[in-house]
Amino acid sequence: MTEYRIAVLPGDGIGPEITEVATRVLRHVTTRHGGVALHLTAHDAGAGRWQREGVALTDETYDGCVRADAILMGAIGLPEARHPDGREVNGDVIFRLRFDLDLYAGIRPVRAWPGLASPLAAAPPVDYVVVRENVEGLYASRTGGCNVREEVATDTIVITATGTRKVTEQAFRLAAKRGGRPRDGRSMVTCVDKANVLSSYAFFRRVFDQVAAGHPGVASDHVYVDAMTAYQVQQPDMFDVVVAENMFGDIISDLAAATVGGLGLAASADVGDRHGLFQPAHGSAPTIAGKGVANPVATVLSAAMMLDWLADRHGDPAAAEAAGVIEGAVGDVLAAARVLTPDLGGAAGTDEVGEAIIAAADRRL
Ligand code: ATP
Ligand code: MG
Repeated sequence: MTEYRIAVLPGDGIGPEITEVATRVLRHVTTRHGGVALHLTAHDAGAGRWQREGVALTDETYDGCVRADAILMGAIGLPEARHPDGREVNGDVIFRLRFDLDLYAGIRPVRAWPGLASPLAAAPPVDYVVVRENVEGLYASRTGGCNVREEVATDTIVITATGTRKVTEQAFRLAAKRGGRPRDGRSMVTCVDKANVLSSYAFFRRVFDQVAAGHPGVASDHVYVDAMTAYQVQQPDMFDVVVAENMFGDIISDLAAATVGGLGLAASADVGDRHGLFQPAHGSAPTIAGKGVANPVATVLSAAMMLDWLADRHGDPAAAEAAGVIEGAVGDVLAAARVLTPDLGGAAGTDEVGEAIIAAADRRL
């Protein structure tokens, strides 16, 4: 039996409620399955800790994250928790972990779940993954590339060959493992850029093409980011794996989530070559915190992604099986459409959805 140490950061707002459900599901499924042992260690990090103690991420928590085999996070940040210059303190946690652990790829699966109403008119099959470059691009400007004066404000986009190569390699490796795009089962990586306007994006595309040439078994394609948003709505079945610069990836992954049931279902992973952090794509939703109505599914699916990532890294089929059970159980609960939170049109609470997922998992174990 393989043992993994997991650092758990429940965070702020709805973070603790949804993390409680995700860890309950993880514990239950791995214990019943018997092939995986998880040692979960909770850490208090985020806006709440900053408000009480003036620090959002202590060195102790950071070290715990570095030493852990994986990190599971709820949601970090509260709108009122800001530094004097206006920056939200969630960056103290998210950006520090992303940059210092080199979690250079943001992986966001997008899939239409059978049984859930689609907001898309044609309701095409949707099953693709957005791979977002996580540590450079336009957002890198926050660490020194911005210049705000009386009349003009500028930001600097940073695209490196190494950074682009690393994230593109991840995208092609992922495509090689998947079953291809829904339209025709073809494995395909699509580069999303604005190469027709900015030379930095043309550079991104050039590096992408070099990487693509090394993966003859996977097709490649380019789409401008503006056209991308239309395709995501009108023909999402043309995508398998999509790779994009940081800000573009941020925007298209939120749009993607909206096309398949919203943020409450949107799982995400920030991974590098050594570390992985798994958290829902949504934030701490403070307006519904403490009411017991937050949808825990995005966090539960992120926990399943964590098991899958551990399975890949450690060649551990038991972890992959446990991940499959959790994903399947979530699919069962959504397809039955009896126990759903209000964001999906239901009347169930966070805990009830957790219990329904556990019951569905038991039927698969
Ligand atoms: P951040 O700045 O951290 O990205 P945000 O301001 O974009 O946060 P979120 O916290 O992601 O906002 O939430 C936006 C809205 O989406 C919330 O007000 C809430 O209504 C809804 N929402 C987000 N996550 C969930 C969830 N798990 N369950 C139900 N509703 C959710
Ligand atoms: Mg947001």
